[in-house]
Amino acid sequence: MERKSSEKLFERAKKVLPGGVNSPVRAYRAVGGNPPFIVRGKGCHIWDEDGNEYIDFVGSWGPLILGHSYPPVLNAVSDAMQNGLSFGAPTAVEVDVAELLVSMVPNVDMVRMVNSGTEAVMSAVRVARGVTGRDKIIKFAGCYHGHSDAMLVAAGSGALTQGVPDSAGVPKAAAGDTLTAQYNDLESVRELFAANAEQIAAVIVEPIAANMGVVAPETGFLQGLRQLCDAYGALLIFDEVITGFRLARGGAQEFFDVRADLVTFGKIIGGGMPVGAYAGRREIMEQVAPVGPIYQAGTLSGNPVAMAAGLAQLRILNEHPEYYTQIEAKAKTMADAMRNSAAKHGVPMQVNQMGALLCPYFTDKAVKSYAETKASDLTLFSSYFNGMLARGIYLAPSQFEATFLNVSHTDDDIAAACQAADEVLASL
Ligand SMILES: *Cc1c(COP(=O)(O)O)cnc(C)c1O
Repeated sequence: MERKSSEKLFERAKKVLPGGVNSPVRAYRAVGGNPPFIVRGKGCHIWDEDGNEYIDFVGSWGPLILGHSYPPVLNAVSDAMQNGLSFGAPTAVEVDVAELLVSMVPNVDMVRMVNSGTEAVMSAVRVARGVTGRDKIIKFAGCYHGHSDAMLVAAGSGALTQGVPDSAGVPKAAAGDTLTAQYNDLESVRELFAANAEQIAAVIVEPIAANMGVVAPETGFLQGLRQLCDAYGALLIFDEVITGFRLARGGAQEFFDVRADLVTFGKIIGGGMPVGAYAGRREIMEQVAPVGPIYQAGTLSGNPVAMAAGLAQLRILNEHPEYYTQIEAKAKTMADAMRNSAAKHGVPMQVNQMGALLCPYFTDKAVKSYAETKASDLTLFSSYFNGMLARGIYLAPSQFEATFLNVSHTDDDIAAACQAADEVLASL
């Protein structure tokens, strides 16, 4: 597969963009080689600058659950933009999105739109601190909650891939109130609560940890967090920037039947446009300005074009609950096929899968914790990644990211990916 045009662009890019990219996860540092530059997408297929076609299992890192260039979403954007791009004033579409979101997500009365997942989490954490009058936050090692200072502690994903779990430039004071527990280890949370009683504002968690690969919550883990938060008067924040509208219409709260006090969204709610949101019960959300004392603002928040894209996508998801069972079934098929191929070819591999997310780890032991994700053989992952790319299967270029399935993957696309995986695993 020739990628001369992408190579040339990357040379230009590296001179004017740090590492040639606008987000570190896009660089191929963990897997070697250079990223293809993408020109176009349709359904689950994307094309690069050299005309190579790929089956896409990234989907813009999750937002494109209906696939690329989904006509109702594109039409909504082009209709909205005819009226202007931004007013910095209230528009009807913001109310439409908020009403729909509130109707779909359990335990949520009000929502505030922002422009990214990072902003959503940063704001939700501020709200939790403002509401409780406490400063400390418990997060889990390997969970990613965006790049705000307080959340860049043991942050997983891109940070993990780059081998800089804690960023330079984060003042000790900003990270000092962030306590780190172990995912799927309630005892580690209990100890932090016991040692910091009356000081914990919130526990924030990715209901499915999807920035250390994919690690599902063990039975009772999320329920246990709920109980500990209740016992100590802390808020439970579900960071649903990935799981929101991906696992079920109501997200992880519906899927796992556990209620959070604040929920953060991003990715899917923008339909491919830059959007985030945080939401919660009325008594919590009415603490936010201009009603309450917790300040949070945004010049482009609730941007009408972005809202139109999000509304179109959410409406379709709301009308098609069967999509969730369909993509989950496809993910299961793919995970099973990969497991069979690994067994057949004697490759030590685990495939974790939940909902429309999956992740292969190159180890012979089950992967249920952050520590266990690190047992994966990263050299084998690189070979797997590059073998798949050479066969036109576009995956996230890191062991610590999910493989994202979406509604647009057909049985043929899945079969092609499984066939490619079988060939690659045979060659390892
Ligand atoms: C992607 C992600 C974020 C950050 O969202 P951005 O839009 O990239 O700022 C936060 N939390 C989780 C769980 C994410 O996966």
